[in-house]
Amino acid sequence: MLLDSKTAVISGAASARGIGLATARLFAEHGARVAILDLDQAAARATAESLGRGHIGLACNVADRDACQRAAEAAIAAFGQIDILINNAGISQPLKLMEIGSAQWDAVLDVNLRGVLYLSQAFVPHMRTRRRGSIACMSSVSAQRGGGIFGGPHYSAAKAGVLGLAKAMARELGPDGVRVNCVTPGLIQTDITGGKLTDEMRSEILKGIPLNRLGDARDVAGAYLFLASDLSAYITGAVIDVNGGMLIHG
Ligand code: NAD
Repeated sequence: MLLDSKTAVISGAASARGIGLATARLFAEHGARVAILDLDQAAARATAESLGRGHIGLACNVADRDACQRAAEAAIAAFGQIDILINNAGISQPLKLMEIGSAQWDAVLDVNLRGVLYLSQAFVPHMRTRRRGSIACMSSVSAQRGGGIFGGPHYSAAKAGVLGLAKAMARELGPDGVRVNCVTPGLIQTDITGGKLTDEMRSEILKGIPLNRLGDARDVAGAYLFLASDLSAYITGAVIDVNGGMLIHG
């Protein structure tokens, strides 16, 4: 039990095949009480109930500063303390450069990047007061290799922004006892691709993956668990690849 008596908030965790829910399940298996945050209140609550007793579900659009504040207040009131924040919520769009309009840019940047800022800001005062906390943020291999998997250039930009934001947060919050790290998954089999990933695209992508399979949501959940737990107590500002070897750094 790596998270015994710990509490965790996970954004974007109500999607049935998603990384957020797989993470919530793994955290609950390791003893944590979990707050599921997602767009739809009923879905968030039902998902929390599916984990067992003691978990909660809250509506929260991470791109809305007030909604993040309300969710943080509700989670802190319910659990008394928050030890772990997983900034997982995200959306993707398979657009080419010249297809990106201002609405698409705003939507993708707002959820993937602005959301990390707003939700972190909502929990940082609490974590600073307690002088402890672990924040893990969702980036993507798309940020490191310049897309080319599924999301468009705006998605790569947003996820690269997450890397910079998280590293700066790690530097600023380290003296307060709060750690901040990122995960950079490769292609994980969830519903984010909205059925637009064809078998042909899949087999083409597989050729570039040394472990010869696409990732499962639970593969990423394991990395989040490591970053959330005290196993990573001396790790901050780090980026953990979960990509089957799709990108191996020099
Ligand atoms: P998913 O679509 O199953 O999950 C995304 C979740 O985020 C959903 O539950 C959705 O309702 C929620 N969400 C969307 N907008 C939101 C908002 N404004 N506020 C709160 N919640 C919101 O997809 P997933 O693959 O599990 O994605 C989880 C994260 O992993 C995303 O940030 C995604 O960009 C990232 N990621 C995914 C892959 C992959 O291959 N699946 C690879 C790298 C990174």
